[in-house]
Amino acid sequence: MYAIKVELKLNNKERILLRKHTGFSRFVYNYGLALMQGLEKDGIKGGCGKKIKAIKKVLTNHTKKQPSYQWIGGLSSKVYQSSLQALENAIRRWYKGLGDKPRFKRRKDSESFSVYDGNGKVLLKKGKQIKIPTLGTFRLKESLPCCYVTQTFTISHRAGKWFVSFAVDADKIPPTYQPEEKVGIDLGVKCFATFSDGTSVESPKPMKKAKTKLAKLQWRNRKKQIGNRRKGIKQSNKAKKYFDSLARKHWRVANQRQDFLHKLTTDISRKYYQIRIEDLNVSGMLANRKLSAAISDLGFYEFRRQLIYKSQMYGTKVELVDRWYPSSKLCCMCGTKHDALKLSDRIYKCINSSCVAHTITLDRDINAALNLLNAPSGVCTVGSIGTNARGQVAADCLG
Ligand SMILES: [Zn+2]
Repeated sequence: MYAIKVELKLNNKERILLRKHTGFSRFVYNYGLALMQGLEKDGIKGGCGKKIKAIKKVLTNHTKKQPSYQWIGGLSSKVYQSSLQALENAIRRWYKGLGDKPRFKRRKDSESFSVYDGNGKVLLKKGKQIKIPTLGTFRLKESLPCCYVTQTFTISHRAGKWFVSFAVDADKIPPTYQPEEKVGIDLGVKCFATFSDGTSVESPKPMKKAKTKLAKLQWRNRKKQIGNRRKGIKQSNKAKKYFDSLARKHWRVANQRQDFLHKLTTDISRKYYQIRIEDLNVSGMLANRKLSAAISDLGFYEFRRQLIYKSQMYGTKVELVDRWYPSSKLCCMCGTKHDALKLSDRIYKCINSSCVAHTITLDRDINAALNLLNAPSGVCTVGSIGTNARGQVAADCLG
C-alpha cells in the first residue's frame, strides 16, 4: 500500500469551499477536544471511544441545530466524522505515550481534512480530473497516470497550494537487485553519504544556496510583526506578504531536500540488496548543539526512514549497525581500534605498525563505510518501519 498526493487546480469558488471545510474540520476538532477536557475535569469515567460517540451525538442532535451554527449545514458531514476520528486517535496515542497531549488547532497551523465515501471504495478514473466524495469534481495540475481504487481522501493546504492524497492498495514492485550486492553507507556532515565502494554523494548545492539566502532574508526582516491578538498588535499587509513568501521559500528548501533524498534512496534500493547503515542516535546528536543544525537539516532520519520503507517495495534488506559499534575508529584492514581519533581528523591512519594502512592513509568516511559493511552480524538489526518510526525517537529521548 502506498499513498499518492497530487496538486489541485482550483478556482476561487472551489478554494473558498475547501477553506470552509478546513475551518469546519478545525472547529469540530477543537469543539470535541474542549468537551473531552470538560468531561475529564468533571471526573466522568468511560472509554475514549464512548466519549467521542457521545460528543458526536451532541454535535449532530444539538449543536448543528443552533441558529448560530447554521453554516455547518451546507458542508460535508464526512469531515466531522474523520475530524473526530483524528481526535480519538490523538487521544489514544497520548494515553499510550506515543504522542503529545492533543492541543487546540490554530488557524495558522497546517490545514487539512479528510472525506470518504460512505459506500466503501471508489474507482478513480485516469486523467486530469478527480471526483472527491461529498465535495465534487476537481481539476488536477498533473493527470493521474492510471485508474485507482481508494476510499479516504485527505485534502491539505500548504504555502498557497492545495493537495489531495489517497492511499492505494498495490502490489510491491518486483526486486531488481543483484543478490550479492552489499554496501555500507556512512552518513556525515561534510559529505552526505559515503559508500563502501569508494563513491560518495554530497547534498545538493542549490539547496545550500537557497538556505543561505533564506537566512539572510529572515535576518533582514527580523523585526516584522506577525501580529498578536492578546497584545493587540495587528498584522500589517507587508508582514502578511512577507510571511506568506517566507512559507513558500521554506517549503521550496524542504522540497529540494525531499527530492534529493528520494532520488538517492531509490537509487540505492535499486542497486544494492544488503544495505548497512549506522543506527544513528538522532536525538542524542540533536542534543549536541554544534551538530544539531547540520543534522536536522540534512535529514539523516528521513534518509533512514525512506530506505526502510522502500526496502519493502524493492525487496532489499536494510540493516542497522549498533550505534555503539566503533565504525569510525576501527581499521578496516586489520581491525585495530584507534581510540585517539578525533572528529576533526578527516583521514584515517592505522596505529598498528604491521598493517598496510599504517603506511598509507585512508579517507575517514570510506574507512567507516567499509567497517559498517564488514560489521559482525551480531551488532546488526534489520530495520523495520515499526521500530524506527516515532517509537525509536521516543526511546532515544527516554534513554
Ligand atoms: Zn590497520
